[in-house]
Amino acid sequence: MQGLMMDYPLTLTHFLERAQRLYAQKEIVSKTPVGIHRYTYGDLYARVCRLANVLHKLGIRKGDRVATFAWNSYRHLELYLAIPCVGAVLHTINIRLFPQQIAYIFNHAEDKACFVDESLLPLLEPIKGQLKSVKNFVVMSDKPAFHTGLSPASDYEMLLQQAPAHYDFPQLDEQQAAGICYTSGTTGEPKGVLYSHRALVLHTLVQCLADSFGICERDVVLPAVPMFHANAWGLTLSCTMLGAKQVFTGPFLQPRDIAQLIQDERVTLAAGVPTIWIGLYQLLKKEKFDISSLRTMPVGGSAMPQSLIEAYQKDFNIPIAHSWGMTELSPVGTVSKPKSYLENIPEAEYFKLRAKQGIPVPFVEIRGMDEGGNEIPWDGVTIGELQVRGPWVVSGYYNDPRSPDSFQDGWFRTGDVVVIDKEGYIQIVDRTKDVVKSGGEWISSVDLENAIMAHPKVLEAAVIGVAHPKWSERPLACVVPTEDAKGSITRDEIIEFLSDKVAKWWLPDDIVILEAIPRTSVGKFDKKTLRHQFRDHQWPE
Ligand code: AMP
Repeated sequence: MQGLMMDYPLTLTHFLERAQRLYAQKEIVSKTPVGIHRYTYGDLYARVCRLANVLHKLGIRKGDRVATFAWNSYRHLELYLAIPCVGAVLHTINIRLFPQQIAYIFNHAEDKACFVDESLLPLLEPIKGQLKSVKNFVVMSDKPAFHTGLSPASDYEMLLQQAPAHYDFPQLDEQQAAGICYTSGTTGEPKGVLYSHRALVLHTLVQCLADSFGICERDVVLPAVPMFHANAWGLTLSCTMLGAKQVFTGPFLQPRDIAQLIQDERVTLAAGVPTIWIGLYQLLKKEKFDISSLRTMPVGGSAMPQSLIEAYQKDFNIPIAHSWGMTELSPVGTVSKPKSYLENIPEAEYFKLRAKQGIPVPFVEIRGMDEGGNEIPWDGVTIGELQVRGPWVVSGYYNDPRSPDSFQDGWFRTGDVVVIDKEGYIQIVDRTKDVVKSGGEWISSVDLENAIMAHPKVLEAAVIGVAHPKWSERPLACVVPTEDAKGSITRDEIIEFLSDKVAKWWLPDDIVILEAIPRTSVGKFDKKTLRHQFRDHQWPE
């Protein structure tokens, strides 16, 4: 039909060019091993042009995968933009995976080059013989010289210095791949999720909506989520599109580092997994930092305990934006903000709502399916598997024959078990593999953890199902006490505390006190390890 709108491609190149034209003087701040590094979007653009020339010189062509093995920093941001904008595919590798998984991922993606932070060389050097496809390693160092057993290896800064300053970015097709990320793979080998330019652009636009994270030019954004995990939740692209100041932590992810950066840089939005905010809260209760600049904290990756959402709101006036997402969704799927007419519901209900994972953002469709393949009603009680579809939802894993099981009639099966209330707010009650199956009924490990974590003496709690002679499985709670409660917390007081909060048959049959809960590569509770550790647990009489 004539007279339609232009067929303008949705590509990341637009974000890059826009940032340099409109926001050249806005700042990007990185904490590095040699101190705070500051430069502007104008500087970023100049270096991205040089980097594009470097990629060309290294033989990187359209569609080639290029690995990054790095912390959050301005250099990682340069790679985030240069690699997709030359038409290649940015492959962010999770540095916390096991060496064998890292090697598997390199080989599966057939990465042609790898950009690695100097501090992470010890993780790659032992597996260098297994990295079959990598033709060049480029080391990002803050010092004039470095040593590495990787070969051939060159110095990032040196390559940039020697490269021409000018680069004409090619016109790209919006359906071209821009990035690839592998799932953290708690079961089996990790699986690759390939992101198109179009998917990332649409995801960015929707992430910035007021009812999502509401990111704008005035924001100062600190992604405490690593850039090697699910596109740093899309935050760095959102900031680049709008010229928002970005603050990178580098390898410094301790609560004190984060509190200091929030205070010094006047951060308005900080995002990360609950673990980070549990640690920060403990610190803020003991020491004074000025975090009054924060206007919101998006939290996701695992369930944010309701008690902590309440505590941040009441003690520091910070609204947590609880969000659900997956690597397979680029990653944002839902965000929990009370609708206008739910603002004034009774306080207890209000925080319960805020602790849900929220309603789907525009263009993400959701449905819950029961075991018989029927769609569950949105009644807030019926349990089913969450399925999603939308323009930034994976349609199949990268070169992976295991894919079909993950899809059903054009919907992606998330493996998350949910209830959906009549307003469309989802609540994750478990992973399909983590629910405790007691005598044919399901017990939500997440709900139990939430209830236990509200106990003042409890720092963290993870609940797992352990084999039981009568009920097939019963819940075992693994509890880490707060510093002050070490040695004094008892099993009975936790059970007593829970008795009016959960159904009687949900009460854990036993509680073990641990020093720490084991974590997965992306900081979530590692229940697989716990299940293994307690597989022969002797239940009390
Ligand atoms: P990943 O792809 O590593 O980001 O992991 C995605 C998974 O993390 C989801 O399938 C959920 O099981 C879990 N997850 C993400 N966000 C939340 C949340 N807000 N609450 C509970 N679980 C979550």
